[in-house]
Amino acid sequence: AHLARIEAVDEKVHAFLHVDREGALAQARAVDAKRERGEKLGPLAGVPLALKDIFTTEGIPTTVGSKILEGWIPPYDATLTKKLKAADVVILGKTNMDEFAMGSSTENSAYGPTGNPWDLTRIPGGSGGGSSAALAAYEAPLAIGTDTGGSIRQPAAVTGTVGVKPTYGAVSRYGMVAFSSSLDQGGPCARTVLDAALLHEAIAGHDELDSTSIDAPVPPVVEAARNGDVKGMRVGVVKEFSGEGYQAGVMQRFNESVELLRELGAEIVEISCPSFDLALSAYYLIAPSECSSNLARFDAMRYGLRVGDDGTRSAEDVTALTREAGFGPEVKRRVMLGTYALSSGYYDAYYGSAQKVRTLITQDFEKAFEQVDVLISPTTPTTAFPIGERADDPMAMYLADLCTIPTNLAGNAAMSLPCGLAPEDGLPVGLQIIAPAMADDRLYKVGAAVE
Ligand code: GLN
Repeated sequence: AHLARIEAVDEKVHAFLHVDREGALAQARAVDAKRERGEKLGPLAGVPLALKDIFTTEGIPTTVGSKILEGWIPPYDATLTKKLKAADVVILGKTNMDEFAMGSSTENSAYGPTGNPWDLTRIPGGSGGGSSAALAAYEAPLAIGTDTGGSIRQPAAVTGTVGVKPTYGAVSRYGMVAFSSSLDQGGPCARTVLDAALLHEAIAGHDELDSTSIDAPVPPVVEAARNGDVKGMRVGVVKEFSGEGYQAGVMQRFNESVELLRELGAEIVEISCPSFDLALSAYYLIAPSECSSNLARFDAMRYGLRVGDDGTRSAEDVTALTREAGFGPEVKRRVMLGTYALSSGYYDAYYGSAQKVRTLITQDFEKAFEQVDVLISPTTPTTAFPIGERADDPMAMYLADLCTIPTNLAGNAAMSLPCGLAPEDGLPVGLQIIAPAMADDRLYKVGAAVE
């Protein structure tokens, strides 16, 4: 049914870069055969899923939304892919994304944009717009995203779906193409809080192949999602995430959520996190710095595309020509910014300062979580904007992640879930819930209560 749905709508939505029809049917049949033999089934047996094209899949193309990996077939599965298979999930295919997960609209994909199923002329968010659009268009009931600065939560918000960025280190990064290694985190996307929790449980857990993987039990997210309750909880409203630049209808729905939480028995506390105002600047030094280093591996020798290798050129020239042809403008912008920020003589002024700001943000969270159990804010300042509107203005694009970035810098957990439609445009608004590191279950407890 999901393959038929993809066939019917994906020409317009363009959520998928690659639909693995044969593989999906084979997986589904294998689950059926297991069931018939009376074998024990995985926890998500037979449930179809849309996988962001940033996770390696053995034998299936993985492009990261980039021309530089066009035609590359990974020889191995990411740990997350392995875990999905072990859970007996049926992987429908790979979803569209901003190139190397750099963006907030999926317009930076080298393979063309994805439409927002609520209004195909608008963006589905980014970088994981394909995964969220697949959910909103009913092409898949579950999807996987990655969140470096908001790429799970922001697409969830603008498509009216649920997205969770788990605590940093909760989901293995092995086989997840690196953008900014100290920020990148894979996580679940779904249409309900409980569905997200079931997927969360299936993909989280310690992995020896990822040196930053957390070696501790996964928080009881499914139990929390089944027992939504905020009675007696202290919920902090982040003061800095309101005011200028926030759409009226977004604030209206957010304020209604605050009232709902109060009615359900939560104690509402206003919290100030003064360093959050610096988060965007720090992020746009740290993320490009790490990406300039990570993307050095695309040298035309190891993977995918190779341009100008006609026997007359040096290896350096082939590398340069390949990177020139293979990377899009946003990736080039970030590699240049990052290389500059890490240059000798500039390191302390830029990268060093950004790391200090990162510590201040972490301390703001620590202080906040001494007073409250979770923090809340709108996920995004505005609803989905029209395709093309911010394409030539990187700064305007970067603002889409204003509320999501601090969590990545500090490494704690956050969820976005729908909280109604903005009255002025009828488009979905996201409520963000933020929890301390390793307290991911609180997101589900609160999310399930207000869903
Ligand atoms: N939009 C942010 C960026 O462009 C975040 C991307 C992400 O979370 N992958 O870097």
